[in-house]
This record gives sequence, structure tokens and C-alpha cells, in this order.
Amino acid sequence: MCRYKEEDYLLLSGLQHFEFCPRQWALIHIEQQWEENLHTTEGKIMHERAHDKDFAESRKDVIISGGMSVFSSELGVTGECDIVEFRRDENGIQLFGREGKFIPTPIEYKKGKPKEGKEDIIQLTCQAMCLEEMLCCNIEYGFLYYGETRKRQKVIFDEDIRQRVKDDLKLMHQYYKRAHTPNTKPTAKCRACSLKEICVPKRSKYKSVSDYILDRLGDDE
Ligand code: SF4
Repeated sequence: MCRYKEEDYLLLSGLQHFEFCPRQWALIHIEQQWEENLHTTEGKIMHERAHDKDFAESRKDVIISGGMSVFSSELGVTGECDIVEFRRDENGIQLFGREGKFIPTPIEYKKGKPKEGKEDIIQLTCQAMCLEEMLCCNIEYGFLYYGETRKRQKVIFDEDIRQRVKDDLKLMHQYYKRAHTPNTKPTAKCRACSLKEICVPKRSKYKSVSDYILDRLGDDE
């Protein structure tokens, strides 16, 4: 099994960008470009509230942990969970300094409402996969909480979604290693993209200068 070194870990939060658009992810995480818009600012404020670091609270049968750091050497990723709820369950795992056994459940807070794409689901699934590796347990489901609907959406971590997390991260590692920003065709998503001014999607259909020269050299051979 491939294990990544810590210095090669990618940010877990980048998965949602990659699922939204691989080019957006590369612009942010490889080229370090970022532009604030209303969506990103509102999202950041909501996350800052949820990521109340090192916050932990115990109720009768549940421990609630905020801003928990997670990682996976198998996936080569690191990040934070907004909230992890540890519910008392005899089929769960033991926690240091606590009596009994618990099952962890990751919960991610999002502004807005459930999206058409799978970016939020992928991000939450990756959090669960990290927790599984760190705590040697199985996590069957988690929740996404949306600020606009004020509802929790249950997410089942099935094999298909787990495989998609693995496939995305494999590709992200390949791009990152080569410092490669992929070109993508403009789509309806571009209208809501915080990087549309930087990305200039209409131009990405044209070849780069180096690709043009290489093509012309090929023509002359
Ligand atoms: S503007 Fe469109 S193509 Fe460019 S990064 Fe954003 S979503 Fe991707």
C-alpha cells in the first residue's frame, strides 16, 4: 500500500475545489491564486464559527469535538473536521481518558443549500476516511449541515464515493507533483467561480505559446 510522506500531504479542503473544477483547485493550491467574492467570504465566516478550535463538550452519551485535525497517510491528505460527534455505542472504539466505547460521526457545516455536485459529500467522506485510519474504526455515515435550509443531510459513505475520493486525490497528487494546472472547458459553474477573472475560461481553449510552438515544430518534421 502506498503511504505518502507528511511533506507531500495535500489540503483536504482542496477536494471540494477539485470536484467543483480541477482547474480552480490548481489555481488555488498550485499557483496560490485566490479571489474573495460574496460566496467565499460568507463561507469563511460560517467556517470560523464552526471551527472553534479545540472545543469539546460532553453530553449524556455524546462527546462533541470542534476543529479536530485529521490526516491520512494512505490518501496523502490533512485537514480539519468542523465537528466530530462521538456517540456511546458498544460496537465503537475506546477513547483515551473516557469510559465506554464510542462511534465517531463527522459533521461539516456549509453555507447555502445542498449542491447539485458532489463536492461537499466528497469532502465529508474524506474526513471520515481519515478518522477511520487514525482511530482504526469503520464509519458508515456523517452529516452535512446547510445554513440556508438549517437542516442536516445524512451522507452514507459507500464504496463508490470512497473510490471517488481516492481517484481525485491520486490525480491531485499527480498534478501537484508536476505543478500542472489543467485546462478545462468553460461551463455554467464559471459564473459562480471566485476565480473567473483570473482563470479567463474562454481563453483556456486556446493553446499555450509553448504548446503552439511544439505543434508547429511537429508540422515541419
Ligand atoms: S472560471 Fe470556470 S474553468 Fe476557470 S477555474 Fe472557475 S470554474 Fe474552472
